[in-house]
Parts: sequence; structure tokens; C-alpha cells
Amino acid sequence: MPMDKNVLMREVEERIAKCKACPLHTGRTNVVPGEGSLDSPIIFVGEGPGEEEDLTGRPFVGKAGRLLDKILESAGFKREDVYIANVVKCRPPGNRAPKPEEQRACSHFLLAQVAIIDPKVIVCLGGTAFSFFNGGNISMKEARGKFFDWKAGIKLFAMYHPSYLLRVPSKAPGSPKYQTWEDIRKLRKVYDALKNGKNIEEAIEESEI
Ligand code: SF4
Repeated sequence: MPMDKNVLMREVEERIAKCKACPLHTGRTNVVPGEGSLDSPIIFVGEGPGEEEDLTGRPFVGKAGRLLDKILESAGFKREDVYIANVVKCRPPGNRAPKPEEQRACSHFLLAQVAIIDPKVIVCLGGTAFSFFNGGNISMKEARGKFFDWKAGIKLFAMYHPSYLLRVPSKAPGSPKYQTWEDIRKLRKVYDALKNGKNIEEAIEESEI
């Protein structure tokens, strides 16, 4: 019988809580493993915890997190509908991007979480998450709103990180915020099609109509 997803995820979370594999552990108040539905066909991955995330142990609860909630709500998603995590589980000092060696040290945790949830789509919020999964050097401007093949039939979908959107508040047509609202609607169509039994290719096709 397959192991219960909750049991497996708890094991990963326990290992994260004890981890000292990279220097980021020295500055943490709490680890921030991730949270949400383990049955969601879509997971969201950001870069790393910020100050409020470090204090609470929960992902995306600061200003950028509140914007992510609004983005999700605009397409009828609740946070609990999806899983939300980060590339690294401990806060980088001063909210800098995690270094490649920190990402490498932490990568097995995120990959284990992906394996447990087994989503159809990994939404990469910002360039750090996108390059973690996709390698390569495509800018977010080019990548956003598009699906990319990853592994085992899983697709990557690139979106701007909410903290970037806080720095460019324009909502004019063509602005990053406007495009993000388009992207989440597209994602909603994919989510609904998957929930209605479509495979990922069919779901993406439907989202583009
Ligand atoms: Fe361990 Fe990841 Fe935290 Fe580094 S960031 S100490 S690898 S849990």
C-alpha cells in the first residue's frame, strides 16, 4: 500500500527542522518548509523565506504573501487549494537571493516535496525558482505565462514573484501586474480542466482558447 502523503511530508518537515547543511541555518528563527494541499495538481514555489516567514514558520505571509493571496483569490483559488513552498527553507540574511550552493544543499527537500505531492504543474514565482527547475538563463520577461516541460510529465509555469510586483505597482495593460492577472486566470483554466479529468496537455490547450 502506498505510504500516506501526510506521513511522508511530516517526515520531510522533521528533517528540515533539524537541518544544518548550509550556513543559512545560523540565522533562522524557524524553518519554513511549505504548506497547503498535498493533493493539489498545482504547486507554487518562491525563492526563500523573508522576515515574517522566518518568524512564523509559514511561507508567503508577509507583504508579498498578501499580494500572492490577492492574486490567487482573483482567480477563485484559496491558499488551502494549492501547495506553497520555497527553494530554500531558511531565511537568507537581508532577504538576499539564496546562493547556488545554498540552493544545492537544500534542493533534496523541495524535490522530495514535489515527489510526494506529484503535481502536474510547478508554478515558479520569480527567476530563482525558475532557474532552479529549468536551469538555463531565460529572463522572467520571456518566460512568464508560458509552460515548459520538466520531468515525469510535470510542467513548469513561470510567473513574476509578488515582491517584484510590489516594486512595479502599475496595473496598465502590458505591465507585469496586468500580465500576472492574465497568468493566474490561465492557470485557473488548467486547474479546472485537470480537476475535470483532462490530462495536462489537454488542460493547457483548453487554457489557451
Ligand atoms: Fe538546511 Fe535548507 Fe536550511 Fe540550508 S536552507 S540549513 S539546506 S533547510
